[in-house]
Amino acid sequence: MNDSLPEIFGSMVFNEQVMRQRLPKETYRAWKAAIERGKRLDSETANIIANSMRDWAIEKGATHYTHWFQPMTNVTAEKHDSFISPQGDGSVIMEFRGKELIKGEPDASSFPSGGLRATFEARGYTAWDPTSYAFIKDNTLCIPTAFCSYGGQALDKKTPLLRSMEAINKQAMRVLKLFGNANVQRVYTTVGPEQEYFLVDKALFEKRKDLRYTGRTLFGAAAPKGQELEDHYFGVIKPRVKSFMKELDEELWKLGIYAKTEHNEAAPSQHELAPVFTTTNIAADHNQLTMETMKKVALRHNLVCLLHERPFAGVNGSGKHNNWSLSTDTGVNLLEPGETPYENAQFLLFLTAVIKAVDDYQDLLRVSVANAGNDHRLGANEAPPAIVSLFLGDELTGILDAICHDQAYDGKSKSLMKVGVHVLPTFTKDTTDRNRTSPFAFTGNKFEFRMPGSSASISGPNVVLNTIVADALCEFADRLENTDKDFDTAVHELIRDTYLAHRRIIFNGNNYSEEWVQEAERRGLLNLKTTVDALPHYIAEKNIALFRRHRVYTEEELVARYEIKLEEYCKVIAIEAATMLDMAKKQILPASMKYVKTLTDVFKSKQLVKNDLPCEAELGIIMKLSRLNDSLYQKIGALEEAVIGVSRDGDVLERARYFQSRVLSAMQDMRITADAIESLLADGYLPYPTYGELLFGV
Ligand code: ADP
Ligand code: MG
Repeated sequence: MNDSLPEIFGSMVFNEQVMRQRLPKETYRAWKAAIERGKRLDSETANIIANSMRDWAIEKGATHYTHWFQPMTNVTAEKHDSFISPQGDGSVIMEFRGKELIKGEPDASSFPSGGLRATFEARGYTAWDPTSYAFIKDNTLCIPTAFCSYGGQALDKKTPLLRSMEAINKQAMRVLKLFGNANVQRVYTTVGPEQEYFLVDKALFEKRKDLRYTGRTLFGAAAPKGQELEDHYFGVIKPRVKSFMKELDEELWKLGIYAKTEHNEAAPSQHELAPVFTTTNIAADHNQLTMETMKKVALRHNLVCLLHERPFAGVNGSGKHNNWSLSTDTGVNLLEPGETPYENAQFLLFLTAVIKAVDDYQDLLRVSVANAGNDHRLGANEAPPAIVSLFLGDELTGILDAICHDQAYDGKSKSLMKVGVHVLPTFTKDTTDRNRTSPFAFTGNKFEFRMPGSSASISGPNVVLNTIVADALCEFADRLENTDKDFDTAVHELIRDTYLAHRRIIFNGNNYSEEWVQEAERRGLLNLKTTVDALPHYIAEKNIALFRRHRVYTEEELVARYEIKLEEYCKVIAIEAATMLDMAKKQILPASMKYVKTLTDVFKSKQLVKNDLPCEAELGIIMKLSRLNDSLYQKIGALEEAVIGVSRDGDVLERARYFQSRVLSAMQDMRITADAIESLLADGYLPYPTYGELLFGV
């Protein structure tokens, strides 16, 4: 660990410690009450905080401030205003008032709204999220905010996330009260997202139109060496990457992001960064900042950071493992098995709530990770399949089985497992026992949701997770509050009934195998292979009802998100298709023709020397390439036709389906021919770097 870490860590964050130091006691207490009990801040308090924030920011060299928010894209947005306020006499003062802290009015017309922002309320406004600290980035004081329409509808990813955290807090508190936890005031969800990414050389990146326009390679024959030797995983990190990581760490530490482990990943030039977990909304803010900082710092090292889910075909894709748990304000992790019967009953109840939630809402979990990029990842190579299932591990599964069948666990203990009476047999939380193929794995004291893609915001998956578990807990609380049985028996039966009803979702085997696909089908689990298959489930009756029940999304808000996701899908494929056509017509076909000409020249000059000189090689390659060129030419035509056939208006789902069935398939077909051409070309003919150069060029 770096010596100066304690000094630089959080040095650019207006965090609790800074507030305690700088704010008057009452103001600090008012802020604390606001975040702990959801109390509103009065304008006087806001003014004092704003002044203190401004002074602090100016001392740190900031000249501007911005409301930093997360529109319904995967990136963040900001609009910078300077602190300067001109005076009548030509001088300036640095100004920033409470009202500017609390509320902003960005020109929001360019952000996707899915029809939520009707013309009469064309402007949206941003509102300070006092639970996420302000920070300084590029000489700008950034104030984390939520973004809503004047009608109160969420136009961003943060508002629903905060609402979902509130929903799960409410339901978890009901359950905790039943267990007699008198001290607990609040339950938070915690998240630690592991971020995977690729680094490529900047000069090489610049030469590839596909990487520049789409973030992934649309063509590329496999390199002679891929990831098969696994020699880079936990291998020595290359010096250039090392210095990138060092600077990245420092930048993130300044922002109060505790970047912890950094190692190489499965594919060459792939890496991972894991932060120490924190409260979900802060984790989401931090993950956005991490992605942004990665890109920025990479450029300083003449590298480009690729966050796409699958930048290279045939090698590992990048995900974002979303480690998730529930924690009380008294510091208890609710997914940590306890040491007393009481703690264990509580743990098992929360555990079964998650099992039920994942089974009932497989579709929403799948929807929450759906995008065009992730379609190339899920179900391929090392990524989890598109089938949602849950890994518990053999021991915990055995314990639950024993509970359900009134059996002794493992034959070791004589007495039958009775929830609330017996202590759980200790089970190993050994990391080697982890199942790396599961999309949703219990890893000892948290769940690891492995389906989210590397480029996406973690808000979506966590909104779903929080809400579906809140819903299961709500049902549990309803049942336990109204039971006439004694509490232990009621809990025992609840756990048993829930487990029996939902254990089909548990799968401890190899998720990559073909047998699992068949087994999952027998179990009636969903297999929503693509974004287009998954998205219609977003607005299924039961899901609209769920989100309304917990006040996370209104129906309009949900439909808006559904439409935005479909639009985004169409746009991504359209850009990829246009880029492929451009490269095929202007780079691949000309390169291939040029090589054919070279070979033909060789052939002709040989004939001038002597008529029957052997020319098998020249003629063979000329023949193969000529055929492939013709085929590519035809496939260019076919893709162009498919693109022309896209309807401009009409139902967005229909359009997305068309993009998938016609455009994407024509792209894939064209790629096969182009890659075959590439593998025949001599070095130097393609005007851009190959897979080998990109993957091993750092
Ligand atoms: P692995 O690569 O084996 O999955 P890592 O150590 O790389 O494990 O990542 C584990 C991640 O899980 C870290 O980001 C860590 O902070 C996070 N984590 C640990 N405990 C919790 C918890 N209770 N809630 C949420 N995230 C957690
Ligand atoms: Mg992991």
